[in-house]
Amino acid sequence: MLNGVILLLFISFIGKIASMNKVVLVSATEYEQSKIDAAIEEVFDGLGGAEKVVGCNKNVFIKVNLVREMVPEKCGTTHPTIVASVAKLLINQCNCTVTVGDSSGAAYTHSSMNSIYKTCGMTAACLSSGATLNQNFESTLQSIKGKVVKYLEIIDAFTCADVVINIGKLKTHAFTGFTGTVKNLYGLIPGLVKAQTHSLYPEIEQFTHCLIDIEQYAAPKIVLHLLDAVVGMEGNGPTNGQPRLIGKIIAGKNPYLVDAVGVSLFADPWDMPLFIKANERGLLSKDFSETDFDFNSLKNHYIKDFKTVTIINTNFTHTGFLKRFLKKEWVTQRPLINKKTCKGCAKCYEHCPQKAIIMQGEKTSKKAYIDTKLCIRCYCCQELCPFNAVKLTKPLLYRIIRLFSGGGKRKRTKQRKDNK
Ligand code: SF4
Ligand code: SF4
Repeated sequence: MLNGVILLLFISFIGKIASMNKVVLVSATEYEQSKIDAAIEEVFDGLGGAEKVVGCNKNVFIKVNLVREMVPEKCGTTHPTIVASVAKLLINQCNCTVTVGDSSGAAYTHSSMNSIYKTCGMTAACLSSGATLNQNFESTLQSIKGKVVKYLEIIDAFTCADVVINIGKLKTHAFTGFTGTVKNLYGLIPGLVKAQTHSLYPEIEQFTHCLIDIEQYAAPKIVLHLLDAVVGMEGNGPTNGQPRLIGKIIAGKNPYLVDAVGVSLFADPWDMPLFIKANERGLLSKDFSETDFDFNSLKNHYIKDFKTVTIINTNFTHTGFLKRFLKKEWVTQRPLINKKTCKGCAKCYEHCPQKAIIMQGEKTSKKAYIDTKLCIRCYCCQELCPFNAVKLTKPLLYRIIRLFSGGGKRKRTKQRKDNK
Protein backbone atom coordinates (compact mmCIF):
# COMPACT_ATOMS: atom_id res chain seq x y z
CA MET A 1 0.00 0.00 0.00
CA LEU A 2 2.76 2.44 1.09
CA ASN A 3 4.85 1.51 -1.96
CA GLY A 4 1.86 2.30 -4.19
CA VAL A 5 1.44 5.76 -2.65
CA ILE A 6 5.15 6.49 -3.05
CA LEU A 7 4.98 5.36 -6.69
CA LEU A 8 1.97 7.61 -7.34
CA LEU A 9 3.70 10.58 -5.70
CA PHE A 10 6.82 9.88 -7.75
CA ILE A 11 4.83 9.69 -11.01
CA SER A 12 3.01 12.94 -10.20
CA PHE A 13 6.34 14.63 -9.35
CA ILE A 14 7.89 13.50 -12.68
CA GLY A 15 4.73 14.67 -14.49
CA LYS A 16 5.00 18.10 -12.87
CA ILE A 17 8.67 18.49 -13.85
CA ALA A 18 7.86 17.39 -17.42
CA SER A 19 5.06 19.94 -17.77
CA MET A 20 7.29 22.69 -16.31
CA ASN A 21 9.82 22.06 -19.06
CA LYS A 22 7.47 21.46 -21.94
CA VAL A 23 7.98 23.81 -24.86
CA VAL A 24 5.38 24.33 -27.56
CA LEU A 25 6.28 25.77 -30.95
CA VAL A 26 3.50 26.83 -33.27
CA SER A 27 3.79 28.22 -36.80
CA ALA A 28 2.27 31.64 -37.50
CA THR A 29 3.41 33.69 -40.44
CA GLU A 30 1.22 36.79 -40.21
CA TYR A 31 -0.50 38.94 -37.58
CA GLU A 32 -3.99 38.47 -38.91
CA GLN A 33 -6.22 38.30 -35.81
CA SER A 34 -8.11 35.09 -36.67
CA LYS A 35 -4.86 33.30 -37.54
CA ILE A 36 -3.20 34.46 -34.32
CA ASP A 37 -6.33 33.38 -32.37
CA ALA A 38 -5.95 29.88 -33.85
CA ALA A 39 -2.22 29.80 -33.09
CA ILE A 40 -2.76 30.86 -29.46
CA GLU A 41 -5.47 28.15 -29.07
CA GLU A 42 -2.91 25.66 -30.37
CA VAL A 43 -0.32 26.92 -27.86
CA PHE A 44 -2.66 26.43 -24.88
CA ASP A 45 -3.90 23.06 -26.19
CA GLY A 46 -0.27 21.94 -26.49
CA LEU A 47 0.29 22.84 -22.85
CA GLY A 48 -2.81 21.03 -21.59
CA GLY A 49 -5.39 23.83 -21.82
CA ALA A 50 -5.76 27.35 -20.43
CA GLU A 51 -7.44 26.16 -17.23
CA LYS A 52 -4.50 23.93 -16.43
CA VAL A 53 -1.90 26.59 -17.28
CA VAL A 54 -3.53 29.65 -15.71
CA GLY A 55 -6.49 28.50 -13.59
CA CYS A 56 -9.97 30.03 -13.34
CA ASN A 57 -11.17 33.36 -11.90
CA LYS A 58 -7.65 34.70 -11.63
CA ASN A 59 -6.46 38.26 -11.72
CA VAL A 60 -3.92 37.95 -14.56
CA PHE A 61 -1.24 40.49 -15.48
CA ILE A 62 0.03 40.15 -19.05
CA LYS A 63 3.54 41.59 -19.10
CA VAL A 64 4.31 42.68 -22.64
CA ASN A 65 7.37 44.25 -24.25
CA LEU A 66 6.80 47.98 -24.80
CA VAL A 67 10.43 49.05 -24.89
CA ARG A 68 9.48 52.42 -26.35
CA GLU A 69 6.77 54.18 -28.28
CA MET A 70 6.68 52.54 -31.70
CA VAL A 71 4.05 51.21 -34.07
CA PRO A 72 3.54 47.42 -34.20
CA GLU A 73 4.76 47.30 -37.82
CA LYS A 74 8.29 48.14 -36.63
CA CYS A 75 8.28 44.83 -34.74
CA GLY A 76 10.15 46.17 -31.71
CA THR A 77 7.28 45.49 -29.28
CA THR A 78 4.95 42.58 -28.49
CA HIS A 79 2.34 42.48 -31.24
CA PRO A 80 -1.16 43.55 -30.09
CA THR A 81 -2.92 40.68 -31.92
CA ILE A 82 -1.10 38.16 -29.70
CA VAL A 83 -2.05 40.10 -26.56
CA ALA A 84 -5.68 40.33 -27.70
CA SER A 85 -5.81 36.57 -28.41
CA VAL A 86 -4.36 35.56 -25.04
CA ALA A 87 -6.60 38.00 -23.16
CA LYS A 88 -9.77 36.89 -24.99
CA LEU A 89 -9.02 33.25 -24.32
CA LEU A 90 -8.43 33.79 -20.60
CA ILE A 91 -11.54 35.94 -20.20
CA ASN A 92 -13.82 33.62 -22.19
CA GLN A 93 -12.51 30.21 -21.16
CA CYS A 94 -11.27 30.84 -17.60
CA ASN A 95 -13.34 33.82 -16.45
CA CYS A 96 -10.15 35.70 -15.62
CA THR A 97 -9.71 39.43 -15.16
CA VAL A 98 -6.85 40.52 -17.42
CA THR A 99 -4.62 43.58 -17.10
CA VAL A 100 -2.01 44.41 -19.74
CA GLY A 101 1.09 46.49 -19.12
CA ASP A 102 4.82 47.07 -19.04
CA SER A 103 7.26 49.63 -17.78
CA SER A 104 8.98 50.95 -20.88
CA GLY A 105 12.35 52.65 -20.98
CA ALA A 106 10.63 56.03 -20.59
CA ALA A 107 9.15 57.54 -17.42
CA TYR A 108 6.66 55.22 -15.71
CA THR A 109 3.81 57.71 -15.57
CA HIS A 110 0.17 57.87 -16.63
CA SER A 111 0.75 60.21 -19.59
CA SER A 112 3.90 58.55 -20.90
CA MET A 113 2.58 54.98 -20.62
CA ASN A 114 -0.84 55.76 -22.11
CA SER A 115 0.78 57.37 -25.11
CA ILE A 116 2.96 54.24 -25.53
CA TYR A 117 -0.05 51.91 -25.11
CA LYS A 118 -1.87 53.76 -27.87
CA THR A 119 0.98 53.83 -30.40
CA CYS A 120 1.97 50.20 -29.71
CA GLY A 121 -1.60 49.03 -30.33
CA MET A 122 -2.28 47.91 -26.74
CA THR A 123 -5.23 50.28 -26.27
CA ALA A 124 -7.00 48.72 -29.27
CA ALA A 125 -5.98 45.18 -28.18
CA CYS A 126 -7.59 45.73 -24.77
CA LEU A 127 -10.73 47.28 -26.23
CA SER A 128 -11.24 44.34 -28.58
CA SER A 129 -10.52 41.63 -26.01
CA GLY A 130 -12.08 42.96 -22.81
CA ALA A 131 -8.75 43.34 -21.02
CA THR A 132 -7.76 46.47 -19.09
CA LEU A 133 -4.65 48.58 -19.50
CA ASN A 134 -2.60 48.89 -16.34
CA GLN A 135 -3.05 52.33 -14.77
CA ASN A 136 -1.25 51.63 -11.51
CA PHE A 137 2.16 53.24 -11.91
CA GLU A 138 3.38 52.61 -8.38
CA SER A 139 6.28 50.37 -7.48
CA THR A 140 7.57 48.84 -4.25
CA LEU A 141 11.00 47.80 -3.07
CA GLN A 142 11.18 44.00 -3.13
CA SER A 143 13.64 41.56 -1.64
CA ILE A 144 15.15 39.72 -4.62
CA LYS A 145 17.66 37.53 -2.75
CA GLY A 146 19.62 37.01 -5.97
CA LYS A 147 23.26 36.37 -6.73
CA VAL A 148 23.96 40.05 -7.49
CA VAL A 149 20.62 41.77 -6.86
CA LYS A 150 19.41 41.88 -3.28
CA TYR A 151 16.65 44.51 -3.42
CA LEU A 152 14.91 46.12 -6.38
CA GLU A 153 11.94 48.36 -7.12
CA ILE A 154 9.30 46.23 -8.86
CA ILE A 155 6.12 47.55 -10.44
CA ASP A 156 2.98 46.91 -8.38
CA ALA A 157 1.10 45.68 -11.46
CA PHE A 158 3.26 42.56 -11.19
CA THR A 159 3.17 42.11 -7.41
CA CYS A 160 -0.60 42.73 -7.15
CA ALA A 161 -1.55 40.09 -9.76
CA ASP A 162 -2.51 36.50 -8.87
CA VAL A 163 -0.59 35.15 -11.83
CA VAL A 164 1.44 36.59 -14.70
CA ILE A 165 1.86 35.76 -18.37
CA ASN A 166 5.09 37.12 -19.81
CA ILE A 167 4.97 37.82 -23.57
CA GLY A 168 8.38 38.77 -24.97
CA LYS A 169 9.45 39.67 -28.49
CA LEU A 170 12.31 37.86 -30.22
CA LYS A 171 14.87 40.45 -31.32
CA THR A 172 18.57 41.07 -31.57
CA HIS A 173 20.00 43.19 -28.77
CA ALA A 174 23.26 45.12 -28.99
CA PHE A 175 24.21 44.48 -25.35
CA THR A 176 22.84 41.02 -24.56
CA GLY A 177 22.89 39.49 -28.07
CA PHE A 178 19.18 38.87 -28.13
CA THR A 179 16.05 39.65 -26.15
CA GLY A 180 13.24 37.21 -25.51
CA THR A 181 11.26 36.26 -22.43
CA VAL A 182 13.95 36.46 -19.72
CA LYS A 183 15.19 39.89 -20.80
CA ASN A 184 11.57 41.08 -21.01
CA LEU A 185 11.37 40.76 -17.22
CA TYR A 186 13.81 43.68 -16.88
CA GLY A 187 10.67 45.71 -17.59
CA LEU A 188 9.39 44.83 -14.11
CA ILE A 189 11.66 47.63 -12.94
CA PRO A 190 9.89 51.00 -13.12
CA GLY A 191 11.00 53.50 -15.81
CA LEU A 192 14.08 55.42 -14.88
CA VAL A 193 15.17 52.98 -12.13
CA LYS A 194 16.23 50.74 -15.03
CA ALA A 195 19.05 53.13 -15.91
CA GLN A 196 20.28 53.20 -12.30
CA THR A 197 20.21 49.40 -12.19
CA HIS A 198 22.17 49.27 -15.45
CA SER A 199 24.89 51.42 -13.95
CA LEU A 200 25.19 49.01 -11.01
CA TYR A 201 25.84 46.10 -13.40
CA PRO A 202 27.73 47.67 -16.33
CA GLU A 203 29.47 44.50 -17.53
CA ILE A 204 27.53 41.91 -19.51
CA GLU A 205 28.46 39.16 -17.05
CA GLN A 206 27.00 41.01 -14.03
CA PHE A 207 24.06 42.26 -16.04
CA THR A 208 23.22 38.71 -17.13
CA HIS A 209 23.26 37.62 -13.48
CA CYS A 210 20.96 40.55 -12.73
CA LEU A 211 18.52 39.33 -15.42
CA ILE A 212 18.60 35.80 -14.01
CA ASP A 213 18.07 37.13 -10.47
CA ILE A 214 14.97 39.02 -11.61
CA GLU A 215 13.67 35.93 -13.43
CA GLN A 216 14.22 33.74 -10.36
CA TYR A 217 12.44 36.27 -8.14
CA ALA A 218 9.49 36.49 -10.58
CA ALA A 219 9.28 32.76 -11.38
CA PRO A 220 6.72 31.66 -8.73
CA LYS A 221 4.13 34.05 -10.13
CA ILE A 222 4.67 33.46 -13.86
CA VAL A 223 2.48 30.69 -15.24
CA LEU A 224 3.54 31.07 -18.86
CA HIS A 225 6.29 32.61 -20.96
CA LEU A 226 5.32 33.26 -24.53
CA LEU A 227 7.64 34.46 -27.27
CA ASP A 228 6.30 36.51 -30.17
CA ALA A 229 8.58 35.33 -32.99
CA VAL A 230 6.10 35.75 -35.82
CA VAL A 231 8.05 38.73 -37.14
CA GLY A 232 11.09 39.40 -34.99
CA MET A 233 13.86 41.93 -35.40
CA GLU A 234 17.34 41.43 -36.85
CA GLY A 235 20.34 43.73 -37.17
CA ASN A 236 20.39 46.89 -35.07
CA GLY A 237 18.01 45.60 -32.34
CA PRO A 238 16.24 45.93 -30.02
CA THR A 239 14.52 48.98 -31.56
CA ASN A 240 16.33 50.09 -34.69
CA GLY A 241 16.80 46.83 -36.57
CA GLN A 242 14.73 45.47 -39.42
CA PRO A 243 11.62 43.31 -39.03
CA ARG A 244 12.34 39.73 -40.01
CA LEU A 245 9.83 36.96 -40.59
CA ILE A 246 10.56 34.04 -38.26
CA GLY A 247 7.07 32.58 -38.37
CA LYS A 248 6.78 31.10 -34.89
CA ILE A 249 5.14 31.48 -31.50
CA ILE A 250 6.99 29.65 -28.74
CA ALA A 251 5.67 29.02 -25.24
CA GLY A 252 6.41 27.17 -22.03
CA LYS A 253 6.84 27.52 -18.31
CA ASN A 254 10.65 27.52 -18.47
CA PRO A 255 11.81 30.83 -20.03
CA TYR A 256 15.38 29.63 -20.70
CA LEU A 257 14.05 26.77 -22.83
CA VAL A 258 11.54 29.03 -24.60
CA ASP A 259 14.32 31.52 -25.42
CA ALA A 260 16.74 28.74 -26.42
CA VAL A 261 14.23 27.41 -28.94
CA GLY A 262 13.74 30.94 -30.33
CA VAL A 263 17.45 31.71 -30.63
CA SER A 264 18.15 28.29 -32.19
CA LEU A 265 16.13 29.45 -35.18
CA PHE A 266 18.93 31.83 -36.22
CA ALA A 267 22.01 31.43 -34.00
CA ASP A 268 23.83 29.16 -31.59
CA PRO A 269 22.35 29.72 -28.10
CA TRP A 270 25.74 29.00 -26.58
CA ASP A 271 27.07 32.21 -28.11
CA MET A 272 24.65 34.10 -25.83
CA PRO A 273 25.66 35.15 -22.31
CA LEU A 274 22.20 34.37 -20.90
CA PHE A 275 22.37 30.63 -21.59
CA ILE A 276 26.01 30.37 -20.50
CA LYS A 277 25.23 31.94 -17.12
CA ALA A 278 21.97 29.99 -16.71
CA ASN A 279 23.95 26.82 -17.32
CA GLU A 280 26.60 27.85 -14.76
CA ARG A 281 23.82 28.44 -12.24
CA GLY A 282 22.32 25.00 -12.82
CA LEU A 283 19.19 26.32 -14.53
CA LEU A 284 19.85 24.90 -17.97
CA SER A 285 21.80 21.89 -19.19
CA LYS A 286 24.14 22.02 -22.17
CA ASP A 287 22.06 19.54 -24.14
CA PHE A 288 18.68 20.95 -22.98
CA SER A 289 17.91 17.53 -21.52
CA GLU A 290 15.32 19.10 -19.15
CA THR A 291 12.87 19.07 -22.03
CA ASP A 292 11.69 16.48 -24.52
CA PHE A 293 11.47 19.24 -27.15
CA ASP A 294 13.37 18.07 -30.23
CA PHE A 295 15.95 20.79 -30.96
CA ASN A 296 17.07 18.82 -34.03
CA SER A 297 13.67 19.50 -35.58
CA LEU A 298 14.61 23.20 -35.74
CA LYS A 299 17.30 22.63 -38.36
CA ASN A 300 14.67 22.70 -41.11
CA HIS A 301 13.58 26.16 -39.94
CA TYR A 302 17.05 27.66 -39.41
CA ILE A 303 17.40 31.16 -40.92
CA LYS A 304 20.95 31.16 -42.26
CA ASP A 305 21.15 34.83 -43.25
CA PHE A 306 19.58 36.30 -40.08
CA LYS A 307 21.58 39.40 -39.12
CA THR A 308 22.76 38.61 -35.58
CA VAL A 309 24.67 40.67 -33.02
CA THR A 310 27.94 39.18 -31.90
CA ILE A 311 28.83 39.58 -28.24
CA ILE A 312 32.58 39.75 -28.02
CA ASN A 313 33.08 39.52 -24.35
CA THR A 314 36.34 38.13 -23.14
CA ASN A 315 34.52 36.29 -20.35
CA PHE A 316 32.32 34.39 -22.72
CA THR A 317 34.45 33.44 -25.69
CA HIS A 318 37.23 31.00 -26.30
CA THR A 319 39.44 34.12 -26.36
CA GLY A 320 39.10 34.29 -22.55
CA PHE A 321 42.85 34.64 -22.06
CA LEU A 322 42.66 38.00 -23.84
CA LYS A 323 40.74 39.41 -20.89
CA ARG A 324 43.99 40.26 -19.13
CA PHE A 325 45.11 42.87 -21.64
CA LEU A 326 42.16 43.79 -23.87
CA LYS A 327 40.40 47.08 -23.29
CA LYS A 328 36.61 46.88 -23.38
CA GLU A 329 36.35 49.74 -25.90
CA TRP A 330 38.53 47.83 -28.38
CA VAL A 331 36.18 44.86 -28.58
CA THR A 332 32.72 46.35 -28.08
CA GLN A 333 30.59 48.41 -30.43
CA ARG A 334 30.78 52.14 -29.79
CA PRO A 335 27.61 54.27 -29.75
CA LEU A 336 27.92 57.28 -32.04
CA ILE A 337 25.31 59.99 -32.49
CA ASN A 338 24.46 60.97 -36.03
CA LYS A 339 24.25 64.74 -35.86
CA LYS A 340 22.12 64.95 -38.97
CA THR A 341 19.33 62.73 -37.61
CA CYS A 342 19.57 63.76 -33.92
CA LYS A 343 16.58 65.95 -33.11
CA GLY A 344 17.83 67.00 -29.68
CA CYS A 345 14.88 65.39 -27.86
CA ALA A 346 17.19 64.46 -24.92
CA LYS A 347 15.65 60.99 -24.39
CA CYS A 348 19.15 59.46 -24.46
CA TYR A 349 20.44 62.15 -22.08
CA GLU A 350 17.63 61.43 -19.58
CA HIS A 351 18.20 57.67 -19.59
CA CYS A 352 21.98 57.31 -19.83
CA PRO A 353 22.93 55.48 -16.60
CA GLN A 354 26.43 56.99 -16.61
CA LYS A 355 25.45 60.58 -17.41
CA ALA A 356 27.80 60.16 -20.36
CA ILE A 357 25.60 62.19 -22.72
CA ILE A 358 25.83 65.94 -23.00
CA MET A 359 23.25 68.14 -24.75
CA GLN A 360 24.89 71.00 -26.63
CA GLY A 361 23.64 73.89 -28.76
CA GLU A 362 20.81 76.41 -28.70
CA LYS A 363 17.19 75.53 -27.92
CA THR A 364 16.14 74.62 -31.46
CA SER A 365 19.42 73.12 -32.58
CA LYS A 366 20.34 71.01 -29.56
CA LYS A 367 22.32 67.85 -30.29
CA ALA A 368 23.50 65.00 -28.10
CA TYR A 369 27.18 64.14 -27.64
CA ILE A 370 28.67 61.08 -25.94
CA ASP A 371 31.64 61.23 -23.61
CA THR A 372 33.16 57.88 -24.59
CA LYS A 373 35.34 57.78 -21.46
CA LEU A 374 32.22 57.60 -19.26
CA CYS A 375 30.23 55.32 -21.57
CA ILE A 376 29.81 51.74 -20.34
CA ARG A 377 28.37 50.42 -23.65
CA CYS A 378 24.95 49.54 -22.24
CA TYR A 379 23.30 50.84 -25.48
CA CYS A 380 20.27 52.29 -23.68
CA CYS A 381 20.68 55.41 -25.85
CA GLN A 382 20.52 53.31 -29.04
CA GLU A 383 17.51 51.41 -27.67
CA LEU A 384 15.53 54.51 -26.70
CA CYS A 385 16.34 57.04 -29.42
CA PRO A 386 13.05 57.59 -31.29
CA PHE A 387 14.87 58.88 -34.37
CA ASN A 388 17.36 56.05 -34.89
CA ALA A 389 20.15 58.61 -34.47
CA VAL A 390 22.45 56.41 -32.38
CA LYS A 391 24.55 54.13 -34.51
CA LEU A 392 26.86 51.44 -33.23
CA THR A 393 30.30 51.53 -34.80
CA LYS A 394 32.48 48.43 -34.86
CA PRO A 395 36.14 48.90 -33.89
CA LEU A 396 38.71 47.07 -36.05
CA LEU A 397 39.55 44.49 -33.38
CA TYR A 398 35.85 43.75 -32.87
CA ARG A 399 35.53 43.08 -36.59
CA ILE A 400 38.63 40.86 -36.67
CA ILE A 401 37.51 38.76 -33.67
CA ARG A 402 34.00 38.53 -35.12
CA LEU A 403 35.43 37.31 -38.41
CA PHE A 404 37.49 34.59 -36.73
CA SER A 405 34.72 33.57 -34.33
CA GLY A 406 32.36 33.20 -37.30
CA GLY A 407 29.77 35.46 -35.67
CA GLY A 408 28.00 32.40 -34.24
CA LYS A 409 27.09 31.06 -37.67
CA ARG A 410 30.13 28.82 -38.19
CA LYS A 411 29.65 27.01 -34.88
CA ARG A 412 25.97 26.56 -35.54
CA THR A 413 26.70 24.97 -38.93
CA LYS A 414 29.07 22.55 -37.24
CA GLN A 415 26.51 21.72 -34.57
CA ARG A 416 23.92 21.03 -37.25
CA LYS A 417 26.33 18.69 -39.05
CA ASP A 418 26.99 16.86 -35.77
CA ASN A 419 23.28 16.44 -35.27
CA LYS A 420 22.76 14.76 -38.63
S1 SF4 B 1 20.37 60.99 -30.13
FE1 SF4 B 1 18.22 60.47 -30.31
S2 SF4 B 1 17.47 60.40 -28.23
FE2 SF4 B 1 19.41 61.51 -28.17
S3 SF4 B 1 18.83 63.66 -28.36
FE3 SF4 B 1 19.29 62.90 -30.40
S4 SF4 B 1 17.30 62.30 -31.22
FE4 SF4 B 1 17.04 62.46 -29.02
S1 SF4 C 1 26.18 56.77 -23.80
FE1 SF4 C 1 24.67 55.23 -24.35
S2 SF4 C 1 25.80 53.30 -24.29
FE2 SF4 C 1 27.03 54.81 -23.21
S3 SF4 C 1 26.46 54.57 -21.06
FE3 SF4 C 1 25.16 56.19 -21.91
S4 SF4 C 1 23.30 55.12 -22.59
FE4 SF4 C 1 24.87 53.58 -22.25
